[in-house]
Amino acid sequence: MNLKELYQEIILDHGKNPRNLRKIDNHNKDAKGHNPLCGDSVHVYLKLNENKKIEDISFEGGGCAISMASASIMTDLIKDKEEFEVKEIVNDFLEMIKEKDDLKNNILSDDEKTKLMCFSGVKQYPMRVKCATLSWHTLTSAINNSQEIVNTEKN
Ligand code: ZN
Repeated sequence: MNLKELYQEIILDHGKNPRNLRKIDNHNKDAKGHNPLCGDSVHVYLKLNENKKIEDISFEGGGCAISMASASIMTDLIKDKEEFEVKEIVNDFLEMIKEKDDLKNNILSDDEKTKLMCFSGVKQYPMRVKCATLSWHTLTSAINNSQEIVNTEKN
């Protein structure tokens, strides 16, 4: 199996069986996001503890395989991270998906980075970039308590 096939396999797996697809009843942060071009929507729920650590994270929503796989992998990797680490991972992912060849953070393991690199191929397709980044922008909105519905056509 080459790298491209491995990436496709991971996206298909998470797209078909998204992890953390539920609502956290006692969440203390949440945000909604929408990608009108593709019809993807997500609602991200967070439970941040008093030490600013992500105790639990989940999402609800629907959309294409890329948007669902991205939300699934994101929630898997972000759980148990500290808020400042989350911000670094989000920035790193967004930079990678737009222009960089690789991830720079030292927080995630190589296996975890491989899961994010699955989305590196969407760079060439601006519409797909919106699918892959929707849940990440929505996570940022939840952490910042911005109460604004993320719309990929507006940011
Ligand atoms: Zn999509």
